[in-house]
Amino acid sequence: MDQIFIKGLEVFANHGVYKEEQEKGQKFLVNATLYFDTAKAGRSDELTDSVDYGKVCQLINDFMTQYRMNLLETIANRLARKILMAYPELEAVTLEIEKPQAPIPLPFDNVSVKIHRSWHTAFIAFGSNMGDRMAYINDAIANLKADMRCEVKKVSKFVESKPYGGVEQDNFYNGVLELRTLLEPKELLEFLQAEEKHAGRVRKEHWGPRTLDLDILYFDDMVIETDSLTIPHVDMQYRDFVLVPLNEIAPYKRHPLIGLTTKEMLRKLKDSYVTQK
Ligand code: ATP
Ligand code: CA
Ligand code: CA
Repeated sequence: MDQIFIKGLEVFANHGVYKEEQEKGQKFLVNATLYFDTAKAGRSDELTDSVDYGKVCQLINDFMTQYRMNLLETIANRLARKILMAYPELEAVTLEIEKPQAPIPLPFDNVSVKIHRSWHTAFIAFGSNMGDRMAYINDAIANLKADMRCEVKKVSKFVESKPYGGVEQDNFYNGVLELRTLLEPKELLEFLQAEEKHAGRVRKEHWGPRTLDLDILYFDDMVIETDSLTIPHVDMQYRDFVLVPLNEIAPYKRHPLIGLTTKEMLRKLKDSYVTQK
């Protein structure tokens, strides 16, 4: 990926743990690397096809002078998100914030915090089998679209399917969407659970009826296993109501653990049905 560098941008601001730092202020230096495909701007020679680094510098200055924070870590994290939201055409940003006048009673050159943040690609399975099923799903999609930290790239057609797991209940509408997001996995899970709650979901029995179910299938090519989150979703390869819509929007996406594409997993699942019969 191409890179645009901003080096040594000087900002006078009032961040720090000590009262004196917040009152008097001091000099900060910001280094930013913007990851961006410059090919289009390279062809057209138009600023509108590129990222105006003058404006990015202004944004950094405005953000750092507008707020007061204790830690360089906080400034860096919030600022990185702010830049990526303001310029969604950027893929990622590396930010280093230096504090050359930090209150350290020993000789030193500089202290700094450096972070790298990027947009992620997640695939989310949605389902509903209670009430106005379409409306619950469409509302959730609209709320994802409305959030600055999310960009809904593709939505599959809805498929109607029989319930899974043996609990007697109405048919489901299911589907899959592709999301570009600045949220980290845990934050995304919390966001989706808030949406389920908003749709009035009550958790009674596992695999029981629900107004809205949102599961994270993939998050980039990450493999995660914690108490609250398993990615890729453990059962996705056994569910045609997941694989069929996923195959519509991402047939060649490869499962990071199984090593098969969606198309291949779907074929395998269908073959297993034939063998069972
Ligand atoms: P299944 O996950 O088999 O489709 P379910 O969707 O009915 O079942 P829920 O009751 O919605 O299960 O969720 C149970 C828990 O699963 C959640 O509290 C959540 O913490 C956890 N979980 C683990 N991995 C994921 C994931 N990839 N996406 C969503 N939730 C997950
Ligand atoms: Ca589920
Ligand atoms: Ca779920």
